[in-house]
Amino acid sequence: VASQLKSSGLLRTQGLVGGKWSDSYDGKTIKVYNPATGESIADIACMGGRETNDAISSAYDAFQSWSKTTAAERSKLLRKWYDLLMAHKEELAQLITLEQGKPLKESIGEINYGASFIEFSAEEAKRVYGDIIPAPLSDRRLFVLKQPVGVVGAITPWNFPLAMITRKVGPALACGCTVVVKPSELTPLTALASAELAIQAGIPAGVVNVVMGNAPEIGDAILASPQVRKITFTGSTAVGKKLMAGAAGTVKRVSLELGGNAPCIIFDDADLDVAVKGTVAAKFRNSGQTCVCANRILVQEGIYDKFATAILGAVKNMKVGDGFSEGVVQGPLINEAAVEKVESLLRDATSKGAKVIHGGKRHSLGFTFYEPTVVTDVNNEMRISREEVFGPVAPLLRFKTEEEAIKIANDTNAGLGSYIFTNSVQRSWRVAEALEYGLVGVNEGVISTEVAPFGGVKQSGLGREGSKYGLDEYLEIKYVCLGNM
Ligand code: ADP
Repeated sequence: VASQLKSSGLLRTQGLVGGKWSDSYDGKTIKVYNPATGESIADIACMGGRETNDAISSAYDAFQSWSKTTAAERSKLLRKWYDLLMAHKEELAQLITLEQGKPLKESIGEINYGASFIEFSAEEAKRVYGDIIPAPLSDRRLFVLKQPVGVVGAITPWNFPLAMITRKVGPALACGCTVVVKPSELTPLTALASAELAIQAGIPAGVVNVVMGNAPEIGDAILASPQVRKITFTGSTAVGKKLMAGAAGTVKRVSLELGGNAPCIIFDDADLDVAVKGTVAAKFRNSGQTCVCANRILVQEGIYDKFATAILGAVKNMKVGDGFSEGVVQGPLINEAAVEKVESLLRDATSKGAKVIHGGKRHSLGFTFYEPTVVTDVNNEMRISREEVFGPVAPLLRFKTEEEAIKIANDTNAGLGSYIFTNSVQRSWRVAEALEYGLVGVNEGVISTEVAPFGGVKQSGLGREGSKYGLDEYLEIKYVCLGNM
């Protein structure tokens, strides 16, 4: 796969600063690994503060002209970038499976999903409208202009190596901002390949910059720079809080997509097949490594046993293996630390009375493969219900009433994804309104799309990505008063 990618020019290992591929200034590199085999795939530039400061300067210079291009010009370039991403769908998907591990079919899905944010941004670029406000005095006219915030620092995680970047860069560019992207060091190759395609699309030098290497140093340089006017981050709650605090020094705008603790509530009146299919999709996608994965599966007592049996049946048939192998639906976890976290959460749960009814240990394939797992008799006090599992473990909790389910669901500091399964229209509305979450799936386990706003409440974050609302994150509002007319 690697040699095929190399010949197409998409295997990039250097950072992108001011339109030039560049090594780290001290020549340092770090390795990228295939989580399914443990083999090293590439040595990438290990950059730090100095390279980041140069990337910020490039982005700042580029902003002066990019922000003055017409929306139609930016739209055309974004559309071209989208077309190139789609034209290279197969290679990009292989790159994702290679460095991230998800099954190839899911990687193809991520290219479609990730690229859709660029397409949508190309369309929305032309629809950033201001306002004219009826004036309170007859000799005045009041206008609202929307202008790009400026240079944006975008820091992204490894679980969606393309989509987490395009969700940020698409709307930023559409609004006239320029960006310095820092992808995860675990999955930089997809980010670099997509940046290469941005160049091929004709997006001017300095509009998109990519640096990676020493994450805290890069983060600190972005935070310290008064030229960076906005920071957008997807990742752990702990790092998000650090960035939010660090942004205070220069009063940057902040968007955060942090950890979730998604409840998936199955009511007695749910359609069992729909509930099982939706729950499995919400739980086991990307081997459970998404921030909207079902973390707690709350099942009403009347349907609990039937549901447990049905989900067990679905999980038993899951093929685990290398994402490149035919029929595999569960790839490896990203690294050893991820497996250890799952093990520690399960140990805590079983020591407090939870029962493993399927899986519950490392897979015989070795490395970071973990058996798809179902655990029953979980309660909301166990660590597995308080923390993000980020692995292929489905914990089932039992509840009696709707009120109790809502209380358990909301008893967490997180508030990103949530799911309910019921055939009652009234209950759908009642519960959807009562859930303290940014997203609610009703009878549906996979709801993310570029046309709808994605984001969390409480400690799951700030701001929204996707949809018309996603553009607001990259726009300043300016009030202009024309007086003495
Ligand atoms: P995850 O558990 O998804 O790896 P992290 O929050 O650790 O979550 O990582 C998300 C992104 O944040 C990655 O690109 C990572 O390199 C980056 N990151 C980690 N620590 C810092 C930091 N101190 N400053 C800036 N970025 C950081």
